[in-house]
Amino acid sequence: MKTVVMKFGGTSVATPEKIIGVAKRAIAEKEKGSRVVIVVSAMGKTTDTLLGLASEISAEPPKREMDMLLATGEQVTISLLAMAFKALGHEALSFTGWQAGIETESVPRNARIEQIHTDRLEKVLDNGCFCVVAGFQGVDRIGNITTLGRGGSDTTAVALAAALKADRCDIYTDVDGVYTSDPRFVGGARKLEQISYDEMLELANLGAGVLHPRAVEFAKNNQVSLSVRASYSDEPGTIIQEVVTVEKNLIVRGVAFEKGIARVTVTYKKPFNGSLANIFTKLAEHHIDVDIIVQSITDAFPPSVSFSIKEESLEEARRVLEQYKEEIGFVSCEFEVGLSKVSIVGSGMVSNPGVAAQMFDILRMEEIPVKMVSTSEIKVSVVVPLDEMQKSANALHRAFGLDE
Ligand code: ADP
Ligand code: ASP
Ligand code: MG
Repeated sequence: MKTVVMKFGGTSVATPEKIIGVAKRAIAEKEKGSRVVIVVSAMGKTTDTLLGLASEISAEPPKREMDMLLATGEQVTISLLAMAFKALGHEALSFTGWQAGIETESVPRNARIEQIHTDRLEKVLDNGCFCVVAGFQGVDRIGNITTLGRGGSDTTAVALAAALKADRCDIYTDVDGVYTSDPRFVGGARKLEQISYDEMLELANLGAGVLHPRAVEFAKNNQVSLSVRASYSDEPGTIIQEVVTVEKNLIVRGVAFEKGIARVTVTYKKPFNGSLANIFTKLAEHHIDVDIIVQSITDAFPPSVSFSIKEESLEEARRVLEQYKEEIGFVSCEFEVGLSKVSIVGSGMVSNPGVAAQMFDILRMEEIPVKMVSTSEIKVSVVVPLDEMQKSANALHRAFGLDE
């Protein structure tokens, strides 16, 4: 018998009516002859509301308690959805992350799934029952509830699909597929019929919020057949897979962007052994993700390194750098906020030199200052002022021929 995992995001379960609609859709899937697991997010903007509540209590709430709080959002949806199945005459059981056997590392707010014990779910599915699983949460080895990072329900769904060896994992959302860029901000963004795991992974990592990056990672590593489609229509959506047939022969397949970027510049003593290693070791020990790194050493100036991090990590980065000042050997530290990152992605870049140059030229014509640059085989990213983000994305989208 086939197994299908269906995931519904916050907007798609925002009201009781929508939850009943989800149940009906899953029933239709089961009636085609499949075992069905449904993974759901918290209703509507619940997670944001919970974050707001915590901020009214404390500026820096303990991360463990934040996990405890945020995990309640998904728990509301799973119980209501299981009730909806019952009301429609079908058997269903709801499961929190730990009840579903989802074991994670002990990193609050951003845990990775380490393994999934599927025995319980397998039994329930074999009894012809729907399994309704809370997205975004798991449990660590000592029993703490953990969450997987914003948007993490996608990862729950794909990881479950991999563990259950499901035939398909369908991500139902408020957009009918993966577009060449976020259609809410880029006019002319076009829906893609297919996209490769690698391109999708880059886009997701670079800010395309339609899929959680770790979900794509799981899908690629386990060759999960993954699609993104609308919860409000029956249109086929976008298929994410290893190899794709490209509709238009374009070098750039998508444009992604992300706000909330900060730049930190550390100037350190000359000569001072190991400054560079020490800075990034200390930041890593405190789980601060560093993105673009630019090191500059010339005879004329003291050595310095600039790097970008998420604005939300800035306070902690500042504290860590200050705390280990002696060990790191730094002289001064500068912080710049109000930045964003705009990226172009496409597998065709590997064999086409000059794409970065073309990108800089487009930005120059738009008079957009580029603060930092980073490249890989299939992407080029630039850090630009936040108020130029949308303009940059639109200009690049147009100039690289991605418009409809
Ligand atoms: P859900 O709550 O269902 O998980 P999300 O808000 O996380 O939904 O993701 C869907 C949103 O992702 C869309 O509404 C869209 O604005 C945004 N998005 C960003 N980049 C893209 C893209 N390249 N293609 C489609 N949607 C995108
Ligand atoms: N509810 C969580 C969030 O809003 C997880 C998710 O929706 O994927 O980030
Ligand atoms: Mg999402």
